[in-house]
Amino acid sequence: MKRPGWFPVAVRTAEGPVFHGQARFVSARAIDGELGILAGHTPLVSALGAGVLRVVTSEGELTLAVAGGILQVDQDGVNVLASAAERAEDIDVERASAARKRALSHLEEPGQGHVRAQAALERALARLQAAGRTRH
Ligand code: ATP
Repeated sequence: MKRPGWFPVAVRTAEGPVFHGQARFVSARAIDGELGILAGHTPLVSALGAGVLRVVTSEGELTLAVAGGILQVDQDGVNVLASAAERAEDIDVERASAARKRALSHLEEPGQGHVRAQAALERALARLQAAGRTRH
């Protein structure tokens, strides 16, 4: 049964579903800024940058790190297809920390590879932020 103010949200990657459930708010990092979605939001398709995805469910707030992807809002709810997505509690903080250090040292080197290193840095920072550990 449909409850006013609530809408279905599905988050998946090419590997399979990550979350499916009812929500009353979603926030995501679109490439052109933060998106906040309530029931009845205008339909849209937006590219996501690496960032934190928050889903407010009846059980509380779910925090995910998303490495990038596509978010669609339509009358059936919100669908996110992410290149990678991890629930905060599943994030390996040591791994993200090592990825952050590696990306930073690549960015300090002259030459090629800065675009990839910058993208890797953003994924690592999104993971650390989602895990609640921005200072690693
Ligand atoms: P790394 O350099 O540590 O491999 P990455 O940014 O290159 O990180 P991705 O290509 O975004 O990794 O993701 C590859 C797979 O590993 C995905 O399934 C992703 O969910 C998972 N993954 C990457 N980093 C982490 C992490 N810190 N904790 C949990 N899963 C992770």
